[in-house]
Amino acid sequence: NPVVAVVGRPNVGKSTLFNRIAGERISIVEDTPGVTRDRIYAHGEWLGKHFNLIDTGGIELSDQPLLTQIREQAEVAIDEADVIIFVVDIENGVTDADEQVARILYRSDKPVVLAVNKVDNPERRSDIYDFYSLGLGEPYPVSSVHGVGMGDLLDAVIHRFPDNVANDEDDSIHFSFIGRPNVGKSSLVNAILGQNRVIVSNVAGTTRDAINTSFTTKDGQEFTMVDTAGIRKKGKIYENTERYALMRAMRAIDDSDVVCVVLNAEEGIREIDKHIAGYAHEAGCGVIIVVNKWDTLKEKDHRTMTDFTNLIRHEFQYLSYAPIIFVSAKTKQRLNQLPDLIEEVNAHHKRRVQSSVLNNVLMDAIAANPTPTTNGKRLRVYYGTQVATAPPTFVIFVNDPELMHFSYQRYLENQIRLAFDFSGTPIHLIKRQR
Ligand code: GDP
Repeated sequence: NPVVAVVGRPNVGKSTLFNRIAGERISIVEDTPGVTRDRIYAHGEWLGKHFNLIDTGGIELSDQPLLTQIREQAEVAIDEADVIIFVVDIENGVTDADEQVARILYRSDKPVVLAVNKVDNPERRSDIYDFYSLGLGEPYPVSSVHGVGMGDLLDAVIHRFPDNVANDEDDSIHFSFIGRPNVGKSSLVNAILGQNRVIVSNVAGTTRDAINTSFTTKDGQEFTMVDTAGIRKKGKIYENTERYALMRAMRAIDDSDVVCVVLNAEEGIREIDKHIAGYAHEAGCGVIIVVNKWDTLKEKDHRTMTDFTNLIRHEFQYLSYAPIIFVSAKTKQRLNQLPDLIEEVNAHHKRRVQSSVLNNVLMDAIAANPTPTTNGKRLRVYYGTQVATAPPTFVIFVNDPELMHFSYQRYLENQIRLAFDFSGTPIHLIKRQR
């Protein structure tokens, strides 16, 4: 999907506009317990065109002056987005900061749509002409609070989407490394490419600036490493911020069948690691936990790996299905096992099981642990069927969905997992009344 970034100085109403555009879609299907965060990424849709919306606000360069922060935000938008919505506000008119941002945006060749926010009163519409001086073309008056002007603004946005994005409909396995700064993503990218035969380097990705790299392993499986450009070319200030790491992670997740959540063995697990992993889980892709820098733990014994595994299982309870691999980009320890693991997880993610076998599993599960009764009413499970893959999704027909408590649903889910090997992929169970 194309990426739309919202930029602008503080208090112009970026978040309100962001929320307004994202609308209902902002509420995610499933909130991962223990993972709180503010939203910087959402899916949007207008006239049947889907896009990903990012809010570049709050790239936390706390030690930097405001203007530097705003400038960095604009740079992020230029690097990451296909279309930029530059938000200014009618109350303050054209400010110095606005002019700075406009100059940066103007120099890039990214399409920019200028939104003049807080035009709550139609009489002020004539004041928007001042904003032509920013040199970014027609200003679109909007009131994010009242939802006025959104249609024209979004028309202008989707009109500027690139029309010839490469389509990624090949059958190679798309995967990515995601994680906070310094866990070793770039090092892993380079190490993996060094160990395999790179067949195409720098293929255009699904969004305009994404760069994917394809390679084949010795046994001929083709892989595409998603969006490696951003992590290989480094050096900008904002690249060391957590928000940027999240933004990148979410973009990579979108284009991947399998994501490798990279942790740093030397530094342990931090809050941001959980946020990043939480997004991967919610997106429903295959997930592998890659513990990098395993070489830095000098005094390892037979307990070290078990202890680290237990810690991960405790901190990432929602990822109980994800396999864990301990590697070193530096010494290449176990790195050659990673492509096979990715291939395996990808196969599970796309696995389709036969209805007859699925129903045998369900009936056995119910025989072993009878369905619960609530207020004298017993849950009856009639049958189940797989309705989708990637991730595997099952519909279970019952007499009354209310009677299927979370714990029983979890039980059935686990039984399905045990019967078929779904390691590395989330599975979804939908209960439906028959
Ligand atoms: P990124 O920000 O996640 O892309 O991290 P980099 O790949 O830039 O790595 C950050 C730092 O960790 C660099 O100094 C790397 O040399 C170092 N590093 C990466 N992987 C390993 C590893 O497996 N072992 C050790 N000892 N250092 C590593």
